[in-house]
Amino acid sequence: MAKTRKQPRKSSEESRNPKPRTRIGYGWDSHEFKARLPLKIGGVLLPHSHGLGGHSDGDVLLHALTDALLGAVAAPDIGSLFPPSDPQWRGSDSAIFLREALKRVGAAGYAVSSADTTLILSAPKIGPHTAKIRHRVAGLLGLPPDRVGIKAKTPEGMGMDHAAIAHAVVLLERKRTTRRKAVRL
Ligand SMILES: [Zn+2]
Repeated sequence: MAKTRKQPRKSSEESRNPKPRTRIGYGWDSHEFKARLPLKIGGVLLPHSHGLGGHSDGDVLLHALTDALLGAVAAPDIGSLFPPSDPQWRGSDSAIFLREALKRVGAAGYAVSSADTTLILSAPKIGPHTAKIRHRVAGLLGLPPDRVGIKAKTPEGMGMDHAAIAHAVVLLERKRTTRRKAVRL
C-alpha cells in the first residue's frame, strides 16, 4: 500500500496572511508604424524611419508590461486607467504608466520577481539594442537585468509589417509582512 504523504503544516505567517505567495501577470499590446515619429521601445529611442503611433509615446513594450503588472493584481487595465481619449496622455512617457502599475503591485502587497517579454516586428532589428532595452526595463522594474527577458522575432508569414506587437509576463512575489510589531498589542 502506498504511503500517504503528510501535508506540510502551514507556517504561522501563512495562516495570518492568506495571500498567495506568487502571482503571474500577462500583457499584450500592438501599435502601428507611422512615418516621422520617434521609435521608443522599452523606454529606449531606436533609430528608424518610422515610430509607433497611438496612445502616449506608443511604447508597445512598456504598455504590455504595464498590463501584465496590473493583471497580476487584478487591477483595471492600462486603457481604463489612462484612456487614449484623454488628451493629457498624448505623447507622454509610458514609464508613467509602468510606475503607476508598480505602485498598485506594491499596494497589493507584492514585489516584482521577474519579467519576460517578446517583441514581434519586421524592422528595425532589435538584437543590437537588446542589452540597452533590458537595462532600461530592469531599471524601471527595480530588478537586476538578469531577471528581465527581452526577445524579438519577425512576423514571418503574418502580413504584419506595419505593426509592432509585444507580449509580456511578470512574476510577483508576496512581500514579507512587517505586521508583527503592529499586531502585538
Ligand atoms: Zn499601447
